[in-house]
Amino acid sequence: MKIAFIGLGNMGGSMAQNLLKSGHQVFGYDLSETALQHFAAAGGIVCDSPQAAAKQAEVVVSMLPAAKHVRDVYLGKHGILNVLQAGSLCIDSSTIDPQTIQEIAAAAQAKQVRVCDAPVSGGTLGAKDGTLTFMVGADDATFEAVKPVLSCMGKNLVHCGAVGTGQVAKICNNLILGISMTAVAEGMALGAKLGIDPQALAGVINSSTGRCWSSEIYNPWPDICANAPSSRGYTDGFAAQLMLKDLGLAVDAAQQAEQPVVLGSMVQKLYQQLCQDGHAHLDFSSIMHQYTTTPA
Ligand code: NAD
Repeated sequence: MKIAFIGLGNMGGSMAQNLLKSGHQVFGYDLSETALQHFAAAGGIVCDSPQAAAKQAEVVVSMLPAAKHVRDVYLGKHGILNVLQAGSLCIDSSTIDPQTIQEIAAAAQAKQVRVCDAPVSGGTLGAKDGTLTFMVGADDATFEAVKPVLSCMGKNLVHCGAVGTGQVAKICNNLILGISMTAVAEGMALGAKLGIDPQALAGVINSSTGRCWSSEIYNPWPDICANAPSSRGYTDGFAAQLMLKDLGLAVDAAQQAEQPVVLGSMVQKLYQQLCQDGHAHLDFSSIMHQYTTTPA
């Protein structure tokens, strides 16, 4: 297949490489020269604009930082919807608000181009290994059509519903994750302050009702989980600034829907402070720093 890939960063770079490994012809574009060099070295065809990449393609995949970039690439003055052939398919895997992708899909429909949202979980490691989970918002026929492309980059393809619902799933999951990670950090810090050995405390939590992914697999206290970022100085994980972005999307969506997100708003403020304190690039489990300066 001829596939255009727009946004070859930490996630997109690896995802595009997996498409190349599966034998697809990939036309790539990114603003970063370094990203383009890595892509070319892996066998990708470098293009000098999103339109130049999209013109050649039956399928477009985009993996961009935020909604304004996605809007610009699809709907902007030099947007790809102006050049895509009728019948082509677009998959946006960026994490953005549901409304933006719904607007893009509506504009695309007028040109007989199908668009779906397919945000991911699994992080940079999942992108590299081709084991991402895709949360897909699309009608049934479009979901079937994008499956062969997505399965080159991920192992779980979840059909969430109509366009936009992939983003809803992603936003709600990360809202819960941000809250649960903060809850575990708060509990671990309190226990340590009150004198219990953190290993013993984690053991109790993980065989009791406080157990969750954040306590068991990704505990924010150092040296509880050997492979978690907390055991290597909170490096190489899911950056606190990306968690802050996702919490912002959840809080904004809740405001528009007039639905309370009480804990989400509080945790958003804690992540804002963490990022302002200079920890934006650390893994999001470094929320531990808001509770203790010496978690060891
Ligand atoms: P990144 O910043 O590493 O990559 C984004 C790339 O987009 C950059 O290389 C940038 O140069 C490029 N770009 C920006 N504007 C562009 C434009 N107009 N045209 C072409 N390229 C453009 O970000 P990332 O970590 O790869 O994340 C991408 C998306 O995936 C984000 O929406 C993020 O929230 C989401 N996400 C990231 C992770 C993660 O662990 N990094 C996990 C899940 C979801």
